[in-house]
Amino acid sequence: ATPTALLVGTGRGAQLGILIKGPQILESTRRVDTILLDKTGTVTTGRMSLTDVVAADTEDEAEVLRLAGAAEAGSEHPIAAAIVAEARTRLGELPRLESFASAQGVGVQAVVDRHLVVVGRPGWLTSNWGITVPEDLAAASDELEGLGRTAVTVAWDGRARGVVAVSDTVKSTSAEAVAQMKRLGLTPVLVTGDNPRAARAVAAEVGIDEIHAEVLPAEKANVVSELRAGGRVVAMVGDGVNDAVALATADLGIAMGTGTDVAIEASDLTLVRSDLIAVVDAIRLSRRTLATIK
Ligand code: ADP
Ligand code: MG
Repeated sequence: ATPTALLVGTGRGAQLGILIKGPQILESTRRVDTILLDKTGTVTTGRMSLTDVVAADTEDEAEVLRLAGAAEAGSEHPIAAAIVAEARTRLGELPRLESFASAQGVGVQAVVDRHLVVVGRPGWLTSNWGITVPEDLAAASDELEGLGRTAVTVAWDGRARGVVAVSDTVKSTSAEAVAQMKRLGLTPVLVTGDNPRAARAVAAEVGIDEIHAEVLPAEKANVVSELRAGGRVVAMVGDGVNDAVALATADLGIAMGTGTDVAIEASDLTLVRSDLIAVVDAIRLSRRTLATIK
């Protein structure tokens, strides 16, 4: 029979803004020693804003922003939202999207004004589209990523023609939450599909020492499995469609309440306020609850 204490603990969790899928989950919560944190939308707000538009010598910045904005209108990614919002602000109505497809964790493709537009990671432009990124654009991306921003390359009709960069802000409570995790003896680890420099900038700001960057959506779960194989008991905290498999693979899956339905369904706990302090509250609650029923 389920001890009453577990039910009381689950109820107490709800009061703290932690929705627990079942009383037995408090047991796995208590055993966790490693917290794998997704970057975008979990440690950061995920509300990105556009910071830079760079055009290749032969191109026009407004055209880079116009076609990138039109193509990204088909995507729900925070990077896309930032590009579309700024493109609309600066240029007004954007050309209609004639067809669209996104490749999770790498970029988007669209037909706009009869151009085939591709926006995403430079490595994907090369490997999937055979587009080589010219020296000047690669250098611009490096410089922007060195500032902790996320740079994506914009190509159309088979040529890379520009770079746009976006930046995100760390949630006000993330650094305090990480400090509290460490005090409880937990090891925080950052995992992201983003570039290593953007990852390092965020990790440094909140006090995380271990980082896994440029992890494709399908590989996030492998990071969880490797940590588990090393004897760690892993909680994965995420918000995106790209986090779902990792959330399900972890000993404890924790979704942000502001996250996608897929992430919430794949997890054991949901944080109503999307604030990482609640992760610490959940661990404390599980320790207190289980201490009383030994
Ligand atoms: P995270 O793990 O931080 O949530 P994602 O896995 O969603 O990041 O994305 C990883 C990378 O894939 C981004 O940094 C970007 O380079 C590229 N990318 C993803 N979605 C898009 C998009 N809609 N447009 C352009 N690039 C994208
Ligand atoms: Mg995310």
